[in-house]
Amino acid sequence: MAIQSKYLASGLAALVLSGSAFGAGHDAAPVVDAESALAKLQDGNKRYTSNSVSSGKPTAKARTATAQGQHPFAIVVGCADSRTSPEIVFDQNLGDLFVIRTAGNLVDDYAMGSIEYAVEHLGARLIVVLGHERCGAVKAAVGAANAPGHVGSIVRDIRPAVNAVSKYPGDVLVNAINENVYRVADKICRKAVLGDKAPSVRVVRAVYDLDSGKVEFLK
Ligand SMILES: [Zn+2]
Repeated sequence: MAIQSKYLASGLAALVLSGSAFGAGHDAAPVVDAESALAKLQDGNKRYTSNSVSSGKPTAKARTATAQGQHPFAIVVGCADSRTSPEIVFDQNLGDLFVIRTAGNLVDDYAMGSIEYAVEHLGARLIVVLGHERCGAVKAAVGAANAPGHVGSIVRDIRPAVNAVSKYPGDVLVNAINENVYRVADKICRKAVLGDKAPSVRVVRAVYDLDSGKVEFLK
């Protein structure tokens, strides 16, 4: 899904984030272009699913290399579910991924601002919206229209996806998980203010299989 620059044009003048606002200025040049970033994630997931992940991952070296600045090559918007850590399922290291996680992989204003920051100041050009099999947040939204406390906000924001697939054939939870990923990706495409970086940014959708460990990138 290529980001739609027409949706972003209005943001050109509004993008005034400065590096100093976050304590560090960075060149906005892409670290890795979107296609290469996607290939790196796919290769990493292959290592993970084939049990070829090194047990001696050089985290100390990566910590030293990134201590004074970060240049993540991809942004991952994932679920807070403890079984879906992007650094693990994509076999990446410290400083590689800029990760935003909420139950149900939703994006609010804070998440959207984080995405914009990572594109503008850290050079990331690939945004992955990562849903997962048997997501508890989506399951809650399938089961009820509301929930107590702030979980109610999560259910409220996932319900449109559940309603959209109510007449689809197949498993309602599977369909709602896919639909929710689609809608979150669409929201990022429509609302993220990426200015002149927009044409080089790609938003892709993916679903993680808890059983096999495989990340399936959706068309
Ligand atoms: Zn989940």
